[in-house]
Amino acid sequence: MKNREVAGVLYQISELLELHAENRFKVIAYSRAARSIESQKEDIEVVCREGRLDAIPGVGKAIAQKVEEYLKTGKIQVHQDLLQNTPAGLAELLQISGLGPKTIFMLHEKLEVNNLDDLEKAAREHRIRRLPRMGATSEKNILKAVERYKKRSTRILWSAAEPIVDEVSGYLRTISGLENITAGGSFRRARETVGDIDILATASRPEEAISAFVRMPLVEEVLGKGPTKGSVIVKETVQVDLRIVEPRSYGTALQYFTGSKDHNVHLRQVALDRGYSLSEYSLKRLSDGRDLFFDKEDDVYAFLGLPAIPPELREDRGEIEAAAAGRLPQLVDLKDIRGDLHVHSSWSDGRGSVEEMAREALALGYEYIAVSDHSPSVGIAGGLSPEKLDRKIEAIAALNETLKGFTVLVGTEVDIRADGRLDYPDEILAKCDVVVASVHMAQQQKERTITGRLISAIENEHVDIIGHPTGRIIGKRDPYDVDMPAVLEAAARTGTAMEINAYPNRLDLNEVWARTAKEMGVKMSINSDAHDPEQLKVMRFGVKVARRGWLERKDLLNALGLQELIRALKP
Ligand SMILES: [Zn+2]
Ligand SMILES: [Zn+2]
Repeated sequence: MKNREVAGVLYQISELLELHAENRFKVIAYSRAARSIESQKEDIEVVCREGRLDAIPGVGKAIAQKVEEYLKTGKIQVHQDLLQNTPAGLAELLQISGLGPKTIFMLHEKLEVNNLDDLEKAAREHRIRRLPRMGATSEKNILKAVERYKKRSTRILWSAAEPIVDEVSGYLRTISGLENITAGGSFRRARETVGDIDILATASRPEEAISAFVRMPLVEEVLGKGPTKGSVIVKETVQVDLRIVEPRSYGTALQYFTGSKDHNVHLRQVALDRGYSLSEYSLKRLSDGRDLFFDKEDDVYAFLGLPAIPPELREDRGEIEAAAAGRLPQLVDLKDIRGDLHVHSSWSDGRGSVEEMAREALALGYEYIAVSDHSPSVGIAGGLSPEKLDRKIEAIAALNETLKGFTVLVGTEVDIRADGRLDYPDEILAKCDVVVASVHMAQQQKERTITGRLISAIENEHVDIIGHPTGRIIGKRDPYDVDMPAVLEAAARTGTAMEINAYPNRLDLNEVWARTAKEMGVKMSINSDAHDPEQLKVMRFGVKVARRGWLERKDLLNALGLQELIRALKP
């Protein structure tokens, strides 16, 4: 499938257009089309051949033509022209905080800045301060931003942003007169990674609140401080902004600063169609220019004829249409989770006994866990021999006698070997209540081979769940080459579930594949893959992914009660 390749070219066009300060709507149109094509489960070449390109959401006539051009000739003229006109290295400068496309363009025109090194040199030689609207301060800020950019490894995991948000919000709550403290942006939408953290609040004395914010003990650097906005760096590389808004505008402001950009563009269009201009400040009636203020975000949506849209859905992936039609999903919640079907214990490489894992799960309000230890070929992880598995089964039976209102299920995380065979024979798998099958070895194999391995595991009559289905580790390891639509098709056909591994740097399946799986009728299970009792709590990160993937309670195995679960599992 060329979907990812085509999407990559469209993304690049969007970025280059932005660098050349082209029309905003054009910039967004390309990135929207790219994302849509990236998440299409159908082969883009087939769609193109059948003349259905413009039926893909976000792909209009003009972009459809470009996609066709690419599939026929291997390139897009507009893209080639943009590349010709953009020195390599210039696009990277878009990543430097505080440098907009217009400024980059000026630096390029006036100072022949073509890359990061040129930029740094120009700043050190004090050539930037002589440009219009620049000065010694902007020069210093650019150098600092370059420093930070070199240090930072891009975005941080949502799970790493969470304690920072908690700490900052906790501090802000001690400032008197500061209220309605909420972190917006990609944090509120619960993207798997977060860039800057944007906090919104109201204050009786805004300037004092900002001063207190930039003096917080955890601040390492102050990037900026104005009457209603402060910007700081904490934990070496994380930028946190505090913005104070008027109470009467809090609803529109929170909506605006939660984003996403694409969702907001679409929502503004909905407002325009009704004769209003939506901004962070108000809804302005176009007929007479009168401002309507909203202190609650839900009221903004209600005024536009829409129910409240959960932040996790605000990516312009059909949520506004669904809201208008009254078809928003009832998103799953952490409290809907009744158990965890993939945890490890000290029988293999876990650091808690089965009983310790069970006690913690009980404390979390669960009804069951499946203790799914490794199989023999994962030797370094203490995989269980068939004899040891038998002893574990006996121990679990004895433990269950002592537990009230809670059941430990016998699980296994059986390895899918390089040749596609499972690491236990069927008669051993038959002894387990829950069989999770995962790829751990030979992840570099060709797409056809890995896909074949996963499908043969799915077709096994005992395999209930495929563990961490793409193997990716965020920021460390790419997903293996796997034909996911083919895998999901096999899962749908055989009633095999896919895991959403909740481990914070796995989150695998991701939101896009989770939504596709749901649409194909595949059930999922959000599992912690916990290796000690404390790690059971990572479940909440998986729930975020499920919400961003539009999942409801009925899509999840582990939202079932024990008896329903047992009926839903393969024998
Ligand atoms: Zn595993
Ligand atoms: Zn595991």
